[in-house]
Amino acid sequence: MAVATYKMYIDGKWGSSNSGETYTRVNPANYNQVLGRFQQGNKEDVNKAVDAAEDAFEKWRNVPPPKRGEILLRVAQLLKEHKEELARTMTREMGKVLMETRGDVQEAIDTCELMAGEGRRLFGRTTTSELRDKFAMTVRLPLGVVACITPWNFPIAIPAWKITAALICGNTVVFKPSSDTPICATKFIEILEKAGVPKGVVNMVTGPGGTVGTHLVKHKKVRAVSFTGHKDTGAQILKDAGIGKKIGLEMGSKNPIIIMDDADLELALDGVVWGAFGTCGQRCTAASRVIVHKKVKEKFQRMLIERAKKLRMGDGLHPKTDVGPLVNKAAQEKVAKYIELGKNEGAKLSYGGKVPKLKGWFVEPTIFTGASPDMKIFQDEIFGPVTSLTEARNLDHAIELANAVEYGLSSSIYTSNIQNAMKAIKYLEYGLTYVNSSTIGSEVHLPFGGTKASGSGHKEVGWTGIEFFTDEKTVYIDYSGKLQRAQIDIE
Ligand code: NAD
Repeated sequence: MAVATYKMYIDGKWGSSNSGETYTRVNPANYNQVLGRFQQGNKEDVNKAVDAAEDAFEKWRNVPPPKRGEILLRVAQLLKEHKEELARTMTREMGKVLMETRGDVQEAIDTCELMAGEGRRLFGRTTTSELRDKFAMTVRLPLGVVACITPWNFPIAIPAWKITAALICGNTVVFKPSSDTPICATKFIEILEKAGVPKGVVNMVTGPGGTVGTHLVKHKKVRAVSFTGHKDTGAQILKDAGIGKKIGLEMGSKNPIIIMDDADLELALDGVVWGAFGTCGQRCTAASRVIVHKKVKEKFQRMLIERAKKLRMGDGLHPKTDVGPLVNKAAQEKVAKYIELGKNEGAKLSYGGKVPKLKGWFVEPTIFTGASPDMKIFQDEIFGPVTSLTEARNLDHAIELANAVEYGLSSSIYTSNIQNAMKAIKYLEYGLTYVNSSTIGSEVHLPFGGTKASGSGHKEVGWTGIEFFTDEKTVYIDYSGKLQRAQIDIE
């Protein structure tokens, strides 16, 4: 079958990269299947895209926000109409099972609807003044050209989080998707175009992070960078961006589920299996650590291993598949390396651990027991279907273990005791804490993001997405007709 060639999108036109080069991507569940040829963007492409976004800004910022919202509602409608086809494309492109790729598209639909509504809010504040006949308020203004740099694991949802929030606030966008998911990115941009986003308002440059991403981050005309991806890339972006830009970083994590001795163990089991092995463990919120109270540890461990044996690995398009492949060969090799490391560090490989001889990037669901904070498998983000169990003496010890990593994105506690739950909410150093549900499951109208090495403090979606993509300007209107000096002319 002929392999399709995909284009980049700059200033409302689909075209080839200035580099003249393309790259290919294969189906991770069957690496003999080539999915397409994609543009290998370079600096010139980035410059063109930023110029187009800059040119489009003045007009776009003056479109009334509710009108911008109408376009986003059309995006939502088109996503609904194409949901199944997009989900299938996504499963072929990055591997997660159909149920989850449908969820990914649904998350984009939810985000578009939320952000469309924001067009009728974009609230500033009014407040009092310490002086007579003086009015004080804040207004939200767009930033200008913003860069949206995204990973492959939520290839439509995360671009939608960033791009729709940026657009409703009146910014123009240069989008740099992951090189592993250019088809999803292209399909999303096609929908934005069809929904009526004017030319230049959103531009997409595909290609390597080290060239396209770096140049975009360093570009003087870019006023904000919204990035989701690996911690090391985030650290590099902080160095490259220089001053004068707003930088939002959403990065990896090592998320714990705490299971107390008073927990409903069947419920906890569902949460651990979903959190650890959903998306083949390739979620920033994956439950990669399970911290179990000593009184229930043996029992829970047996239950988990029995359940893991029932998981079916395979192509995510197959309706019976529970766990799909990893995204690429490098990911498979990394996970296999960590499994060896875990054994050498002294953790017990209690289930799985094998790399099957298939024509895809699979690794068996894997469970380590006896993991401790001095081990790499306890500390590092493996980003694969690997979880580890650690025993805790009591809640304080469990929280101490949960916090003993550099990351802080998502956490969970299973308990039937309200005091345990409230204490966990207070002391778990994570941007998200779930009580009696897994580490996964955020909803788009609430803030999403991590603390410590998982985030830079700017959270995504919800009202925080709007905060990131606007400057909240403070305005004073003095209608006294005389010079009034704050802090001095007080009565
Ligand atoms: P990655 O950091 O390798 O790539 C992310 C994006 O950054 C890609 O588009 C890539 O091309 C680009 N990039 C790479 N180098 C760059 C550079 N020097 N300058 C600018 N851009 C550059 O991450 P990934 O492998 O695509 O995604 C997996 C990671 O993302 C995991 O660590 C995961 O936890 C994290 N993640 C975090 C969240 C969150 O919201 N916290 C959500 C999903 C994924």
